[in-house]
Amino acid sequence: MTSPNPSPEAPVRAPKAAADTSRPQVLPTAEGWEQARTVEGRPLLQFASPRVKQPPVHLADMSLAERAAKLKELGLPAFRAKQLSTHYFQHWTVDPERMSDLPKAGREELVAQMFPPLLTEVRRNRTDKGDTIKFLWRLFDGALVESVLMRYPGRITLCVSSQAGCGMNCPFCATGQAGLTRNMSTAEIVDQVVAANRAIAAGELGPKEHDEERVTNIVFMGMGEPLANYKRVMAALHRFVDSSPEGLGMSARNITVSTVGLVPAIRKLADEDLPVTFALSLHAPDDELRDELIPVNNRWKVDEALDAAYDYYRKTGRRVSIEYALIKDMNDHPWRADLLGKKLNQRGRGWVHVNPIPLNPTPGSIWTASDKSVEQEFIARLRATGVPCTLRDTRGKEIDGACGQLAAAES
Ligand code: SAH
Repeated sequence: MTSPNPSPEAPVRAPKAAADTSRPQVLPTAEGWEQARTVEGRPLLQFASPRVKQPPVHLADMSLAERAAKLKELGLPAFRAKQLSTHYFQHWTVDPERMSDLPKAGREELVAQMFPPLLTEVRRNRTDKGDTIKFLWRLFDGALVESVLMRYPGRITLCVSSQAGCGMNCPFCATGQAGLTRNMSTAEIVDQVVAANRAIAAGELGPKEHDEERVTNIVFMGMGEPLANYKRVMAALHRFVDSSPEGLGMSARNITVSTVGLVPAIRKLADEDLPVTFALSLHAPDDELRDELIPVNNRWKVDEALDAAYDYYRKTGRRVSIEYALIKDMNDHPWRADLLGKKLNQRGRGWVHVNPIPLNPTPGSIWTASDKSVEQEFIARLRATGVPCTLRDTRGKEIDGACGQLAAAES
């Protein structure tokens, strides 16, 4: 509020413009990037998956009841559903040889029917230390997707893909620049986790901490916009949290769904009885910049996305994460840290924390991560507003397995 007659003692605030001009403002268009647009001139966003052939139905596409019904159709007793589920969700196996509790006659056919191969391994890259593995998978129709497995002290995280490509068109993200090929099926999403568990069990992810190790955390931060593939992602979440052997029996809080900010879908997610961790890829607190950085902002603005995130917290009691890739001279200005803090605090305290991450430059882009000192100042400014803030690491950079680098190039 401004007072008509400010007293000489009134604190003097630096005008915003002064802060703005002290640092350059680079925009995505600066390096010649052009937003793909519809004929009406709106940014091109692909919400609907192209109508292409879907992968064959797999056990992981179905709930336990649906599996039992399917087996009944095949003239088999319903309890076989539990046996097959145990092999897949507890022993990570689809090898008929290892399923000695099933009658030999017809076993191979049954396994072929319930477990059609969905992910064919094209390549596996490991970091020198062996604590990060990037998997490149070919799907039944030739589409390529990636997942990244990371060992941390006390936890193992898998970054999964939910779509082949992505329709959200974010200029700084390698996947976003490739466009959307198609939605992945529920089982294609789930099978990434089972495959990772198989690799862990085989001792491929560096020295084991204990014998029963498996993926403990899942983040939907691989390829794709999970909330644009809502139904299948939802079913996959159920497979992750359903108790064994129906599913993997994981804890919902250890699963993070990350989105560009599809507001109606965020609200729907909040109404599901599934308190997963929710992350919003904000990357800018002002619409002017976010309109360019996250094209979906042209549909749902910063404040609408933040309101939906806050309501997610209110409904689920789960603290929300804000993702913020720090891009040099683009979104890393101190005033933006202040504005972000202000917008978050306006809605409440203790409901959110911010995860800045240094930008991983994508091939062919001249954008770079913020200077270390700028990054530190951004974090300090944000913390000064009372918002908790932790810098995320950029694991897997050297194997092109870091955030935004998943492009599924074969070469
Ligand atoms: N579509 C979802 C999830 C996939 S991306 C989403 O946007 O949230 C997972 C995270 O990586 C998002 O926060 C995304 O903005 C971020 N990201 C994309 N490209 C990046 C890059 N080049 N450097 C750092 N983070 C990036």
